[in-house]
Amino acid sequence: MTTLPDRRLLLVHAHPDDESIGTGSTMAHYAAAGAHVTLVTCTLGEEGEIHVPELAGLAAAEADQLGGYRIGELAAACAALGVTDHRFLGGAGRYRDSGMMGLATNDHPRAFWRADLDEAAGLLLEVIREVRPQVMVTYDPNGFYGHPDHIQAHRVAMRAHELALAEGIAPAKVYWTAMPRSVLEAGMNAFTESADNPFAGIGSADELPFGTPDPEIAARIDATDQHAAKEAAMRAHATQIPANSWLYAIAGNFGAEFMGVEYFTLAAGAKGPGSGPYGWEDDLFAGLATDGPDRSPVAAAGVR
Ligand SMILES: [Zn+2]
Repeated sequence: MTTLPDRRLLLVHAHPDDESIGTGSTMAHYAAAGAHVTLVTCTLGEEGEIHVPELAGLAAAEADQLGGYRIGELAAACAALGVTDHRFLGGAGRYRDSGMMGLATNDHPRAFWRADLDEAAGLLLEVIREVRPQVMVTYDPNGFYGHPDHIQAHRVAMRAHELALAEGIAPAKVYWTAMPRSVLEAGMNAFTESADNPFAGIGSADELPFGTPDPEIAARIDATDQHAAKEAAMRAHATQIPANSWLYAIAGNFGAEFMGVEYFTLAAGAKGPGSGPYGWEDDLFAGLATDGPDRSPVAAAGVR
C-alpha cells in the first residue's frame, strides 16, 4: 500500500548539478504541484573543475574530496527545488565520475563509464519498483552533449526501463532532455553582441552537439514561476558554476523564460494532447490516467 502522490516523476542524472541545469524548473514545478519527484544521481561528480578558489584542494588530483563535498551542494539544490526524494545510484560512492571522454579517469575501477550495464540498471530498477513512477526523464543516446557519464546514464535508464517492462511496472512515458533548434538559434543570435558569448567561434547551430528540430520536440514545460528556484539550485552548486557564469547572464537577458522553460523529446510511450504547430505537450503526464491535479483527500471524496 503506497502513500505516495498520484503523479510520480523519476529523473536520472549523471552528476550533481545536472538536475538543476537541465531539469531544475521541471522538478520544482512538479514538486510544487504535489507530485512525487525522485532524483537518482549516478555519480558524485568527483572529477569536476572547482570554481571556488579556497576549495581547490578538494580536487581529484589533490585531496580527492570533491565528491563528498558535492553531496552537500546537491542536498542544498534539492532543498531549493522542493525535492525531498534524492538517491545516488547504488548509494553514494558506488560509481565514480568518469571525467571527460578519453581521459585516464575513464578507466578507474569505479568509473561509471565502466559500470556493468545490467548491474547498474538493476539498481535503478529497485528504485522503479519502490516508487513506481509513471514518467522517467533522462538524456538522449549522446547524453545531450557527449560526456561519458551522461551517455551511460542514458544506457542505464533505458535498460532499467526494459527490465521494468518485463515486470509490468515500467514508467508509461520516458522523456529525454532536449533543446529545440529554434530556441538554440535565438539564444545564439542574442549573444552575438555579448562580450561573454558562450557560443563564440561557433558559426551555426549545426556545429553544436545538441539542438533538436522543433517538430521532434514532444513537451515544453513552462515553469517560469519556478525560475528563481532553479537559479537558487544552480547557485547551490557553487564549486561547479561560477557566480559570474554566462548562465546567469542569459538569465538576466532573457528573464524567466530561459530558466523556467524546459523541453523534452518522447522516447517511450504515447504522446498526450498538446498545442501549437507541433502539438507540444505542456505536461509530462499529459494523456496518462493520472493527468490533472493531484488528488487531495477532499478532491478524492468528490467534494468541490
Ligand atoms: Zn554532468
